[in-house]
Amino acid sequence: MSEQPYDYDVLVIGAGPGGYVAAIRAAQLGLKTACAEGRETLGGTCLNVGCIPSKAMLHASEYFEAAAGGAMAKMGIKVKPELDLPAMHGQRTDAVKGLTAGIEYLFKKNKVDWLKGYAAFTSADTVEVAGKAVRAKNIIIATGSSVTPLPGVAVDNDKQVIVDSTGALELAKVPGHMVVIGGGVIGLELGSVWRRLGAKVTVVEFLDQILPGMDGDVRKEANKIFKKQGIDFKLKTKVTKAEVKGKKAVLTLEPAAGGEAETLEADVVLVAIGRRPNTDGLALDKAGLATNQRGQVETDHDFRTSVPGIWAIGDVVPGPMLAHKAEDEGIACAENIAGQTGIVNHDVIPSVVYTMPEIASVGLSEEAAKERGEVKVGKFPMMANSRAKTNHEPDGFVKVIADAKTDRVLGVWCIASVAGTMIAQAAQAMEFGATSEDIAYTCHAHPTHSEAIKEAAMAVTGKPIHI
Ligand code: FAD
Ligand code: NAD
Repeated sequence: MSEQPYDYDVLVIGAGPGGYVAAIRAAQLGLKTACAEGRETLGGTCLNVGCIPSKAMLHASEYFEAAAGGAMAKMGIKVKPELDLPAMHGQRTDAVKGLTAGIEYLFKKNKVDWLKGYAAFTSADTVEVAGKAVRAKNIIIATGSSVTPLPGVAVDNDKQVIVDSTGALELAKVPGHMVVIGGGVIGLELGSVWRRLGAKVTVVEFLDQILPGMDGDVRKEANKIFKKQGIDFKLKTKVTKAEVKGKKAVLTLEPAAGGEAETLEADVVLVAIGRRPNTDGLALDKAGLATNQRGQVETDHDFRTSVPGIWAIGDVVPGPMLAHKAEDEGIACAENIAGQTGIVNHDVIPSVVYTMPEIASVGLSEEAAKERGEVKVGKFPMMANSRAKTNHEPDGFVKVIADAKTDRVLGVWCIASVAGTMIAQAAQAMEFGATSEDIAYTCHAHPTHSEAIKEAAMAVTGKPIHI
């Protein structure tokens, strides 16, 4: 340990939703705080190249499709939309600029020092940032994650032929044929954007179904809906090679179980096979830390690593790679450092895929719940929900999974146009230990999509009204 006085009570490494939120909360609690960030703007993956820009493109392309695809005509609005892609990108970059600048403002307001540069440990309580040693009583690792590379498929975002999610957000023109490698969240969200704007989209997925880890019914229904929308799926298939030939890519595809290879030509290939924690360049060994087999920094329930004074949160630690999970961990970690009791209930972390319809969940899938004991399940189709039907949004359902003995809700799954908004009530109910009966007897405003959650809860005991 260095003999230098501490420069800070708390030094956060990384200014994503985990890190910037931790830094603000630490400062709010009276701790002298700095945050090291190497990117030119604050906000991490989420604000710069993740949640926000992808939602900007999803929202805009949804409007475009509603106008071009006939949904507006169904409501008596006749329009012939024309795509102005540079303007669409403009509103995306405006959103990013505004929100990242907002974090810079919040840092100033809360007196968090932004140390510009990438930090590397030189000891357990000191890091070097932009050539300067900085010593802190507590260091929070919040370095996030980056795209997992696929051997044989080299990403070059500048060329706009084989791209990762960052490249796929910025395509200068709508591809004729986009091949997405990976039928996960990024593949389906960004595949949807370019399909809506006119691309033919093929998703190549290694497993036998898209959206691994989700409830089996939801995975099947989602696959059916996306197919109906025009996305082509090649399941149980792996990409073993991609060659760029001029402005196109030629992919070699093989059955996952082995067998004869085929080739597929694409104008753009999006590699979206997952993300991996960022620890390269941190020199964790100098702090006495190591990563686990998955490259993550392990912590205890309070976000302490094995080295006293070093904490870790967000995508770099185990758990779902989600912005709100990182934020909640940031708040709890800062509160623990300040001597308070910061807790995150990892059993109740909602998750949303922002396609149309949206796919949202909280808690266990039916399969996972059944592994723990007997369950009762209630399902309600959006087709029977008056608001969804009136709005011409009939796809999807709500599913409530409850413990067969106690009736306590174990999981809620929604496929609905506004599932991301609907899931909040399920998360809150589960946080308060609700039973399906509690939800069923809660008065829900009419006509709202959320009534489908009430009806699915009623269906747990076999008593929905509208089916
Ligand atoms: P990050 O946001 O990755 O931030 C880490 C920061 O640390 C980065 O800015 C990085 O530059 C910095 N850093 C790394 N190493 C160092 C170092 N040594 N020194 C200084 N700084 C360093 N999640 C959702 O919940 N909802 C969504 O809708 C959603 N959409 C997404 C869409 C896309 C296309 C992608 C890629 C991700 C999306 N995610 C979404 C996931 C979400 O972005 C992440 O879960 C979230 O950003 C993780 O936050 P974090 O703070 O742990 O890390
Ligand atoms: P993912 O884990 O969601 O999906 C990756 C998919 O690729 C999986 O279906 C997997 O089976 C498949 N796959 C893996 N290797 C393959 C191969 N060689 N060939 C074909 N398929 C292969 O990962 P992602 O979509 O890259 O997203 C990364 C992370 O970012 C996720 O953890 C997610 O939580 C987060 N994210 C969240 C949101 C959101 O909350 N709306 C949006 C985007 C990203």
